[in-house]
Amino acid sequence: MRRGRESKAEFGESLALEKADKKTLGSSILFTSKDYGRPMPFKPPAWARKIRKEMLRFRGVRPWEYGYWWIEWGGQLDTIRDNEQIRFELLSIALGVWDYIKNSGEFPEAAAWAMDWIGMIPGKRESRRIVGDYMLTQHDVEGRRGEPADAVAVGGWPLDDHPPEGFDRWKERPNRAIRPKEPYSIPLGCLYSRNVGNLMMAGRNISASHVAFTSARVMATCAALGQAAGTAAAICARKGLLPRALRQDKALLRQCQQTLLRDDQTIKGLRNEDSRDLARRAKVVASSSHPPSRPENVINGFVRDMPGRWENRWGARMTPEGVWLQLEWPEPVSLRQIQITFDTGFHRQLTLSASPHVRRSVIRGPQPETVRDCRLLWRPSADASWRELARIEGNYQRLVRRSFPTVRAQAVRLHILATNGAPIARVYEVRAYG
Ligand SMILES: Cc1cc2nc3c(=O)[nH]c(=O)nc-3n(C[C@H](O)[C@H](O)[C@H](O)COP(=O)(O)OP(=O)(O)OC[C@H]3O[C@@H](n4cnc5c(N)ncnc54)[C@H](O)[C@@H]3O)c2cc1C
Repeated sequence: MRRGRESKAEFGESLALEKADKKTLGSSILFTSKDYGRPMPFKPPAWARKIRKEMLRFRGVRPWEYGYWWIEWGGQLDTIRDNEQIRFELLSIALGVWDYIKNSGEFPEAAAWAMDWIGMIPGKRESRRIVGDYMLTQHDVEGRRGEPADAVAVGGWPLDDHPPEGFDRWKERPNRAIRPKEPYSIPLGCLYSRNVGNLMMAGRNISASHVAFTSARVMATCAALGQAAGTAAAICARKGLLPRALRQDKALLRQCQQTLLRDDQTIKGLRNEDSRDLARRAKVVASSSHPPSRPENVINGFVRDMPGRWENRWGARMTPEGVWLQLEWPEPVSLRQIQITFDTGFHRQLTLSASPHVRRSVIRGPQPETVRDCRLLWRPSADASWRELARIEGNYQRLVRRSFPTVRAQAVRLHILATNGAPIARVYEVRAYG
């Protein structure tokens, strides 16, 4: 295991320190507050810090509904062992900042506001990292080490480092964020321990230098790492292997990556090459196509498009009768499952932040691009009539799977009846399994 920050010399990272230390990012305590519509006086406890205007030079306090990530402290201590001390210090800073908002005279509009919740356990940003067969570094985040053969997830958050002492360093900015040019790959080699054979990591404890950790440590990346580690662990358990053996077996590694793609994990540059997916052998036609999209895009193996591009999606302008997309095979095939990847507007921000400023750009509820109602139809031969396989109503999800008793189908049709509001229906991928 490792704790702290590596030196420049160790991995040649430009963002690393000259001399290694044991410091980490600090922890935070958040709060929420509310407008009660009547005066809500606030008297701080004696132990609250006394905050002065100059301490907030780089730390904006508006809006105050949801607290501040920059109420951060304790990375100079041990964020595990010294957690209690860190908690008390964070409470004193949080109540001191609230005292400033309420009583400094700078914000008369805060008179009717009061805290309605404050965290009692510090939110820990960083503690230990476990060393694996591969160590992710700044070079990987910046895409300078080539694409790893064992990529299983992506990251994309900036290299977002904070001073370990947090609020005590109020004379400086609370963070330094350097955005990578593109999302970067995270290899399976980061997700298991180098010397404890059956120990896997999923989240902030993966094998990464401190610098790389400052990018990989966020929610969506940790979730994707969990998906990867879980899938790898399932394959290992089924085959009676340790994760290192899975990584070394090219065919199994490929199977692991393809399973991840089937479950809609994003792995950079990898496309669906699942030999069991019968859709890949079908001819695809459609009622119409929104230019420049083409029906066959749904079997090209990729399930993401850059904003405004139609290279990996099929789209069609909705009509009162709906629009359809059809897979046809030269001979009937046995089908038991259809899987569809719809568009959920990934180009738009979707976050659960309580901050009204962030929420303004978020569409709450189903995303308009996503297909809401559709029917899956099949026919045994080209001249037979269509029969219903499944009906999907009220959908808002990206990945939709429907299983049914086996049919011998010569064609399958996805008949889209409604989106969640967008005039153009969109489909990234259709898969078919026997
Ligand atoms: C103040 C703060 C602000 C942040 N801001 C952002 C942000 O804006 N965007 C973002 O994407 N990320 C942000 N993060 C990071 C984000 O919170 C983490 O990346 C995320 O919570 C990690 O999720 P996880 O499920 O991997 O781990 P955790 O959320 O840490 O979950 C691990 C769980 O395991 C439990 N556990 C531990 N040991 C055991 C055991 N032995 N047995 C059973 N259960 C156990 C723990 O209690 C915990 O519930 C922030 C973090 C902090 C602290």
